[in-house]
Order: sequence, then C-alpha cells, then structure tokens
Amino acid sequence: MSNYICPRCHASLQKNGSQFACVECGFMQSISIIQSDQKKIHSHGALLPAHLDHGYYGLLDSVPDLDTTYFRASSAKRDLEKKIDFVQTGLVPEYKYLFNTVHEFDRETTTLRNRVALELARIANVILKEYYGPLKVRDSQIELLHNIADLSKYKNPLEFEKMDLSCLDEITPISIGETVGDALGMTLMQTASDGRLNMALDLASNISLDGEDRQSKEDLKDLGADMLGDLMVNAASAAFHAIGENREAIQQVRGVDEEIDMKIAEMCDNTSGISIEIEQLNKKNKLYSKELHTLEYCVEHGLMPKFSDFLNSQEYLSYREARKEIDHWLNRTHIENEILSVPVVLSRWTALLPKNMKFRYIWKKKTAALDEHKRRNYYSCLRTIGQKMPKSLKHYNTLNIKTEEAYRTFEKQHRPVLETLESHQSLKESMKNFTKVLKIIKKKID
Ligand SMILES: [Zn+2]
Repeated sequence: MSNYICPRCHASLQKNGSQFACVECGFMQSISIIQSDQKKIHSHGALLPAHLDHGYYGLLDSVPDLDTTYFRASSAKRDLEKKIDFVQTGLVPEYKYLFNTVHEFDRETTTLRNRVALELARIANVILKEYYGPLKVRDSQIELLHNIADLSKYKNPLEFEKMDLSCLDEITPISIGETVGDALGMTLMQTASDGRLNMALDLASNISLDGEDRQSKEDLKDLGADMLGDLMVNAASAAFHAIGENREAIQQVRGVDEEIDMKIAEMCDNTSGISIEIEQLNKKNKLYSKELHTLEYCVEHGLMPKFSDFLNSQEYLSYREARKEIDHWLNRTHIENEILSVPVVLSRWTALLPKNMKFRYIWKKKTAALDEHKRRNYYSCLRTIGQKMPKSLKHYNTLNIKTEEAYRTFEKQHRPVLETLESHQSLKESMKNFTKVLKIIKKKID
C-alpha cells in the first residue's frame, strides 16, 4: 500500500521492485514517473489565508487594563480613554476583518467544491453521450453515471450553511459609544452646572443616539469609528475636567469599564468558535483541491489514453460531423430546460395576460435572467437552426419530443457501427474502472 493511486481505478498502488502496480486493474508504471505525475495531488500545504493564522489572539492579550487603585479621576479617565481608543481603532476593525476574511474563505471553499462537482458531472456527461449513447439499456453503471451527471443541474451543489455574522452588529463602536455616553451623561447630571458641562452633555447625548430626528443610527455608522471616538473623548475630557477628583466619577468609569470588558469577552467567545470553523474550512479546502487534482490526473492518465483512440477514429469523426445539426437541437433543449427552471419574480398584473402572451412574457424574463454566456449561446443556437423561442408550453414540449425522436433515430442508424469498432470495444474495461474513480471522488466531496 502507498499514498499513490492508480490513475485507471483509484485503487492504492503497491511497490513491486522499481515499479508501482495496481492489484485491482493490473496497471503498472515506474515509481519515478508515478511520483512526478502525482506531485500535485500530494502538494497541499496550508491553504489558509496567512492573516487567519495569527495576530488576533495577540491583540486580545494587549487590551489595556484599568488600575485598581485610582486616587485621581484624571488618571482613571486617561486609562479609560486609552482602552476605548484601543477597542475602537484596534480590536473592532481587526475583529470585523477576521469575520469578513473567514466569510470570504468559506465562499472560496464552496466554489472549489462546486468546481469538483461540476467537473465530475461534465465528464460523466461526455462518457454517457459519446461512449454509451442514448440507446444503451440502463444498467447499474449507467445509472451511476446519470447520478453523477445530475450534479450539473444544481447551480450551487452541496452549498454550506451560511455562517452567522449577526454578532458583529452587536459589537460596533456605536454600541460601545452608547454605553460610555450614557454613563458619562448620568455622571454629568449628578454633578453638572457650568457652561462647559452643558457642552459635554450635548456631546454625550449625540453619542447616546437618542436624537433620532437629527441623525439616524445608520448616518452615525457612516461617520465611522473615528468620529465617534472624537465625540466620546471630547465628552469624557470636558466631564472629567469639571468633575476633578471625584470618587463617584471613578466608580462611573469602572462601571463603563466593566461593560467594555463584557463586550471584549463576548468577542473572545465568538473568536474561539470561529477558530474551529476556520480549521474545518481549511480541511475541506485541502480535500477539494486534492480531489480536483486527482480528477485531472485520472482523466489525463487513466481515461484519455484509450478514450482518445476512439474519439480520434475516422468513424467517430464522421459520426460527429453528421451529428452537428442534432447537436444544435440538443443544445437548445438543454438550455431551454435550464431556462424553465430559472426563478423570476412576477408582478401581479402578469396573471391578467392571455395564456400564450403570458408564456412568452415569462419566457423572455427567464431568458434575461440567464448568465450572459448562456444567453448568447441560446440566441446563437436559435439562429443556427433558424428557429425562434417557443410560443407556448405545448410548443416547448412538442419541440422537446421531436428533438428526442430525431436524436434516437439518428443514433439507431449510426451507433451500431461505432460499437463494432475495436477502439470502442477495448474501452469497455477502462470505462468500468473510470466510473469507479468518479464514484469515489463524488463520495469524498459529499
Ligand atoms: Zn487500478
């Protein structure tokens, strides 16, 4: 047993002198060739974005602490200011960045998984259409290929659950600013009476966001953390300047400090949850990259050597040439099936349209919602066969049936000739083995 796989059937290769051999299918190749060919499959180090590896935990360690024995309100104020500044300019942006990066990494991993799924489906479709043809009686192997080919029907097969990022909203500079503003406001109420304090009160009420009529919460968010930081620091300076050395003020500062600490603890909790998420995502990401390379490798070294003999034979090339017209019709059916399943939002008045007009209206809307490449492909396909879009559901169904019948008639005529070719017959075993490869990879990404 080794870590190297057989390109024909995905079984583990065994060392046999200077060669690797497969006991399942008899494949043999020199060790050095296999090792160099399979380098890509074995070369998956850390794929994790570098900034997710480190940095954040160190930052949490450096949160400044407030002294336990303040005698002067001014030093309590100075330390609180330091801490607020740290949270707003260091912790919160870093925390948001972490969440966004993980979210991005999650999306990348999903995309990678979809690529493997769609590649499997594409290959299964090619084998079904070119090697078996539509007339072949279904057996377990063909069923399996259809099953794999079905993966292409889903735009985003096997999508992950979306991560919940709602906790971010609770730990914005705004919510911290609100708490500090409220606490300072209360301190001021208890002690205030000169002009500077009134100014400070004004600033504090801006922070507490009570004045919905002046600025909405969203507007304040747009102002950004810096602006809010300024407001808070100004309020704090003015207030403390007036209060002077005051036990009550020191207590108030401690109250605010505790609330900030609770927010930081909440962020820590979320972060440790995230680190587990990152680890799992990284594992999946490595797996999908590996499977994508395995698939590429098995197609190139396991399937293609014999399959291409068949695909390049004179008989097959003439068959493909004769099939061109039918291919356009099949392509049309394929795209139209997709169009039918495109979801569109319809206004209520659509229901009032006459039946066929309604069909055409909805069809155009669905076509417009296709991605550009497919839409162009659809229009060029219609132009090539000199046809227009279907007029009604009945028309669409009739076209489908006609295309299917034409395809089967054509195949009845040509397929038996192809099946007598030596290159076709010698593929039988390879196809069986390669279907195993597809099955194993599909199972790994499920
Ligand atoms: Zn093998």
